[in-house]
Amino acid sequence: MKKNSASLTKAHKVKVRENNLGRVSKGEKCSVIGCGKEAKRSLSAEKVKMAGISISGEKRVYLCENHYKDYKKKTKKERKIEQWRYKGV
Ligand SMILES: [Zn+2]
Repeated sequence: MKKNSASLTKAHKVKVRENNLGRVSKGEKCSVIGCGKEAKRSLSAEKVKMAGISISGEKRVYLCENHYKDYKKKTKKERKIEQWRYKGV
């Protein structure tokens, strides 16, 4: 009788974890209610909710390109105020 335990470990592949924050694997869809487009970014649900975007999801949510832009706009109100100064009245 032979012991073949060594060949078993050969087949056991080491999984490479994708730790790139913000990147989304293909197939994920936008978590914004009524959207369903292909997601480009993943964010914490808490942050997105704070920006006033209605999403379905509790911990991790996915945003498509458009909604990610929308999210960025809503979280950068300070910038808008800065632009106002330049415009003047
Ligand atoms: Zn979307």
